[in-house]
Amino acid sequence: MKFGTEFTTPFYRACGHKVDVTFSYLNQRQRAQQEVTASLTLCDQCRQHLQALVKDHAGKPCASSGVLSGRLPQMLGTVKTAPWANAIRAEACKYYFPLLEAVASSGVQPCTAARNVIRLLFSVQAASFWIGARASLCSDRWLIAEVEYMLRGSRSGSKQADECSVIRYWRDTKPALIESARKSATNSNLAA
Ligand SMILES: [Zn+2]
Repeated sequence: MKFGTEFTTPFYRACGHKVDVTFSYLNQRQRAQQEVTASLTLCDQCRQHLQALVKDHAGKPCASSGVLSGRLPQMLGTVKTAPWANAIRAEACKYYFPLLEAVASSGVQPCTAARNVIRLLFSVQAASFWIGARASLCSDRWLIAEVEYMLRGSRSGSKQADECSVIRYWRDTKPALIESARKSATNSNLAA
């Protein structure tokens, strides 16, 4: 016996793709919650695309690593925290630079959004951010949560702990930066 109502309808996701989403609910409140969740998250195709990108590229050899490392801003911290944060950032470079190289020339979602998030990450100069976020930075989960957070342009429903979120960091420090990163990502062509 089936309880509640279930139906499938085309729905806009955070990535901008309109895809069929199945809602299954007992009351209007549940349905509203499911709609909010669907609107704040990536479609399955974008999520799988990012997971595959991470799997294929993260931590692999990277030709442009030297050039990218040379462009990193100076770490700002104390005599104690700055070297620690530099070491954390160096690990993140090994993880994300090959990914950045892989999406460098792509103009489609979710590659453009991932590129903007990675660039925002390596723009952070505060040692305290790198140290606070160190445990979760290098994972597809982190990247996907940040891409979703950036694209939806609001603070609601973040799955990321505040101290781990680079989007949260820039929202607090320089909101205009997030707005332009979000716009440039959402203006990109949507993959079919
Ligand atoms: Zn999508």
